[in-house]
Amino acid sequence: MNKVVKFGGSSLASAEQFKKVGEIIRADRERKFVVPSAPGKRSSDDTKVTDMLYACYDLAEQGADFTKEMQAIRDRYQEIIDGLGLKLSLDKEFKTIEKNFKEKAGSDYAASRGEYLNGIIMAKYLGFSFVDAAEVIRFKADGEHDAERTNTLMRDRLSTVESAVIPGFYGAYEDGRVKTFSRGGSDITGSIVARAIKANVYENWTDVSGVLVADPRIIYKPAGVETITYRELRELAYMGFSVLHEDAIFPVRSEGIPINIRNTNAPQDNGTWIVESTCQKSKYVITGIAGKKGFCAVNIEKEMMNSEIGFGRKVLQAFEENEISFEHVPSGIDTMTVFVHQDEFMHKEQKVVSGIHRLADPDSIDIEADLALIAVVGRGMKSTRGTAGRIFSALAHANVNVKMIDQGSSELNIIIGVANADFETAIKAIYDIFVISQI
Ligand code: ASP
Repeated sequence: MNKVVKFGGSSLASAEQFKKVGEIIRADRERKFVVPSAPGKRSSDDTKVTDMLYACYDLAEQGADFTKEMQAIRDRYQEIIDGLGLKLSLDKEFKTIEKNFKEKAGSDYAASRGEYLNGIIMAKYLGFSFVDAAEVIRFKADGEHDAERTNTLMRDRLSTVESAVIPGFYGAYEDGRVKTFSRGGSDITGSIVARAIKANVYENWTDVSGVLVADPRIIYKPAGVETITYRELRELAYMGFSVLHEDAIFPVRSEGIPINIRNTNAPQDNGTWIVESTCQKSKYVITGIAGKKGFCAVNIEKEMMNSEIGFGRKVLQAFEENEISFEHVPSGIDTMTVFVHQDEFMHKEQKVVSGIHRLADPDSIDIEADLALIAVVGRGMKSTRGTAGRIFSALAHANVNVKMIDQGSSELNIIIGVANADFETAIKAIYDIFVISQI
């Protein structure tokens, strides 16, 4: 059985961090496939190597001198090599990179070098083979990731090695041009490798001990989550919860491989397990709470709306014509509300309003701004009575006015709309009732 271990930028920001990673890998012989990110921040005011590369390439593209910026990047790697006491020279690599920057190889190529170089160092440090992601991760001509072709290439290539380092974040088109995933994309690479080798677990090592029940910026030291399903995580991710790149779930999900989020700085912690399904009950009825501010509610009224076939479609068409996606659409007998992102909607609001009038002929339209949506997610809700009741009594006690309620048909989540100003109070009240008092 083999494990894929992916390490984020903060886990590889310095030689010190590399040493911790080395210990983690050597502690378990199953950890044979390693996916590194580029070196991240060493302190809060530091710059990630990926950002340094983008900035450096901007200069190259303008035809400006980028010697100083390139040297700063080189220094970051040299510091790691020296700190690890490795006999490794990146001279040749940097010569090629400089040449390609001058020839304007593209910002994707530029950014990908962060992971590429870190992968070379990591392979040397561990004594593992280095497999360039450009050889094994494919993108189609339209820029979409080619999952099937990648899976075949990756599987075949990795079957020829005992252990390997595969840099995260990038792959290539069929013609060899490098392309990256979106930011944070090394998580996706790890998941792709796990699928290809049919790993028994995909360990994603970062700088927190897993998923937390709520945002630590709102709740002081929130409880951790031991086990969460892919679907629960998706619901929470959609509301701004970020532990993992959104697209990292799909490759492992198709093989039922669990993801274990772990902390490089606290390897003794079990972290969080992200699984397809589980009979393990979460400690609390809810698994997590997440939310976002900055929504608008467009309330549309029309008498006898309920009997008018196609009314909803016509209303939504007005949003579609203006390229605005909607988040939720709760409706009543004569009313329908469309929740949208305020910043996306603001500049187009009058176009949408006139569009709704033209297409659906409502009696009136009223817009309410500065709303927040909160998702309370938990697989336990399905089998527990009174969850919604507890949420709403907690909110009433905290003097929070609930503007919208939406329970998904899967009974996995309840979405609540409140005023932006009540956002933090609402999250605290829900957290208190389920986690602190556990009544
Ligand atoms: N280094 C890339 C970034 O900063 C990719 C990653 O770390 O996953 O976004």
